[in-house]
Amino acid sequence: MTAEAAPTASQPPSALLVDDARFDRHAPPGHHPERPERLSAGRDAVARSVARGVRFERVGLRAASNDELVRVHDAEFLDALSRLRGEAGYLDPDTYVSADSVEVARLAAGSLVAMVDAIIDGPTKKGVALLRPPGHHARPARAMGFCLLNNVAVGAAHALSRGIERVVVVDWDVHHGNGTQEIFWNDPRVLYVSTHQSPFYPGTGDAEEVGRGEGKGYTVNVPLAAGGGDAIYRSAFERVVLPVVEGYGPELVLVSAGFDASARDPLGQMELTPQAFGWMARELARIAARSAGGRMALVLEGGYDLASLEAGLERALDGMLTGRAAEIPALIDADAGVSRAASWAKKGWSGVD
Ligand SMILES: [Zn+2]
Repeated sequence: MTAEAAPTASQPPSALLVDDARFDRHAPPGHHPERPERLSAGRDAVARSVARGVRFERVGLRAASNDELVRVHDAEFLDALSRLRGEAGYLDPDTYVSADSVEVARLAAGSLVAMVDAIIDGPTKKGVALLRPPGHHARPARAMGFCLLNNVAVGAAHALSRGIERVVVVDWDVHHGNGTQEIFWNDPRVLYVSTHQSPFYPGTGDAEEVGRGEGKGYTVNVPLAAGGGDAIYRSAFERVVLPVVEGYGPELVLVSAGFDASARDPLGQMELTPQAFGWMARELARIAARSAGGRMALVLEGGYDLASLEAGLERALDGMLTGRAAEIPALIDADAGVSRAASWAKKGWSGVD
């Protein structure tokens, strides 16, 4: 894979965009943090990027086919989900469906498939997918945690079907992406790397969870104590996430981009500023430029404070597309959670500190 050229003054940065009003039709029966207004915040972040000169090219929405979904979900589960068309209610205490939710979930997953195709076919190599419902908790045979279908997993599996040999999913959502981890648990072709608050919902994501069989070592978890901020995340990235991802040499970088590790998020208790998302995105884009020909997409997961989602996504877009990001503070003393994750990651990866 060849390295990509940096954007120049004569060539404004450009990116693919998935965004559609139909996603707003997945709507809760009453108050719920995972609500349509979240995408308005995402759209405002995209508009700010446009105002600064980024050109977005829309990817048309299409529903994921059964063949595309069954790569990561059980057929019986997909049948059961299909029977919920037109229904409204709760599948578990967290996870609702409204009348159009099944159709919307298939559109979300299918749109990421279309974006992955567009990224592989070029010429635009970067993308952002403003998807609802989110996906990273969706397991092979179960919807959970606000998620119906695992969008990022469907996208990663599609990339493999297109001949991409190594996909990394970096999940910086404040929650552990248990569904994505489970789907690729045995599969070395998809490296799953997560930073998340721990202990916290959904209870998975310990550092000792590293995958199994051929997939052993290709799941890397960095659980972080509540209250960690930018310096802790920088340490997690510099000591574990970045060396592991760089050592893997991904041909496609997908980010499960949740913004619920933001300081003001009502669900998470982490303390990230918007600048941290810009920094993390820039660092991952550097690796994408080296091994993936620049191919990288931000896929929306959580984020429930609207202003924080908007500010974080705006910075992440800037970091990914322009390479501009404010520096964030470095950690003075080692963090126990990061050190423990590093000691596990060292077993399989060189360069981990
Ligand atoms: Zn989350």
